[in-house]
Amino acid sequence: MPETATGSSTQLWIDVAYLVTGVCFIMGLRYMSSPKTARLGNTISIGGMAIALLATAILLDWSRAFWIALVGVGAGAALGIYAARSVKMTAMPQMVAIYNGCGGGAAAMVATAEFLKSNPQTSPVPFDLAITSVLTAIIGSISFTGSIIAFLKLQEVMSGRPIVYPGQQVVNGLLALVAVASVVLVTIGIDTVPAFFAALASALVLGVLFVLPIGGADMPVIISLLNSFTGLAAALTGFALGNNVLIISGALVGASGTLLTLMMGKAMNRSVANVLFGAFGTLQTTEAGPAGSTGSGTVRESSVDDVATMLAYARQVIIVPGYGMAVAQAQHSVRELADQLEKKGVVVKYAIHPVAGRMPGHMNVLLAEANVPYEALFDMDDINPEFPNTDVALVIGANDVTNPDARTVKSSPIYGMPILDVDKAKQVVVLKRSMKPGFAGIDNPLYELPNTSMLFGDAKASIDKLVGAVKAL
Ligand code: NDP
Repeated sequence: MPETATGSSTQLWIDVAYLVTGVCFIMGLRYMSSPKTARLGNTISIGGMAIALLATAILLDWSRAFWIALVGVGAGAALGIYAARSVKMTAMPQMVAIYNGCGGGAAAMVATAEFLKSNPQTSPVPFDLAITSVLTAIIGSISFTGSIIAFLKLQEVMSGRPIVYPGQQVVNGLLALVAVASVVLVTIGIDTVPAFFAALASALVLGVLFVLPIGGADMPVIISLLNSFTGLAAALTGFALGNNVLIISGALVGASGTLLTLMMGKAMNRSVANVLFGAFGTLQTTEAGPAGSTGSGTVRESSVDDVATMLAYARQVIIVPGYGMAVAQAQHSVRELADQLEKKGVVVKYAIHPVAGRMPGHMNVLLAEANVPYEALFDMDDINPEFPNTDVALVIGANDVTNPDARTVKSSPIYGMPILDVDKAKQVVVLKRSMKPGFAGIDNPLYELPNTSMLFGDAKASIDKLVGAVKAL
């Protein structure tokens, strides 16, 4: 527990401050659920965190712990500001992974410190402290090492492919068994200290082994799951420390991480059981076809002038952004193209697939950055009925989320994943650099349809040329 040199009335005010923080976090999450209000949600949450920090500083008084905490907060804030300003949007998933790992690791360390502070070698550890600290150590450690592996995979420091070996599930099962046995020993007070460290060690190894067999495409789902673990660990730390704000915020992180995991699983047509125990090792094994071929059909290549004419004389154009738009940083150019088209009386809408890009909300964030009006962004279910009445679907660096095989080909790894029905538009124009596949590593028959034409090149360069060509018409 932090040193409390303050009286009970101060403690009351601190609890009130923590309650206000909890309310701010809940409101922040509520507002973050829509792009329109997300900025406000962030600001409210920052305010809540500032209140919590201030209250904790008062709780620490001007003790040595205060100054140590101040150094920690200062260093963390400096690092956070630098990382937030310099990270590329395409690298956000790994940044989330590493931050999440830090949270899990911190929770595990705090729990270990609290446990050791209770002198477990000489006196029995109270049951509530024993159970909360050992569980926090386990969950936090899994989250810590699991997130580090996720970071290394996404950063391509190690292979993003699933790493599988015989007996994987058995080894994981044994490690889980060691962790469970250790929890029992710690709580009933037999060999408490060695059992605690056995739990910690088995969880650290389990975190690594749990994420190794997961392929790149499933990584954001697992990051979200690890995020919920960290939330749970933080909430448990709150119980160990008797700190209400940690319990509230940990529970919120745990719940939102779990909901996000469920939503992403649904958007990719993966059940949570499948995500947890299933085909991590097999999803990515479908190899891409040879670059330059998508099977037997022919692919029609178009020119900038042809596409510009098609767009300028359309009644309605639906822009379908994907990961390639993020890579090319083409969002500002896309906005400019939409402006030019609207000047010519074309109705422009944006179709947002829930897992377009590499993290939930990826496309919304990029388009918001380019000041695309929120009213022009449509969710998949709302926009899909509009494709048959749309003159041109302009697919910008999106691939898997437009793959019609997901609807019909049962053997496809993405079978059952809801897709944007771009193939139902009168004309489809696909902007990408080559015939290479997208994240799922599979061919896309969309490119061979008679109403599809390809405009090859970097998305930003192609759109900049289109802007010029549309202006000139
Ligand atoms: P994809 O990864 O399927 O395709 C992206 C396409 O962009 C590629 O085919 C690539 O083709 C093209 N591209 C890359 N760079 C450029 C560039 N500079 N200019 C033009 N084109 C470019 O992206 P989608 O957004 O369609 O699908 C997202 C995938 O990520 C799905 O498989 C989804 O399941 C997965 N995923 C997403 C999550 C999320 O939360 N968003 C979570 C988990 C997984 P080329 O190389 O030929 O240019």
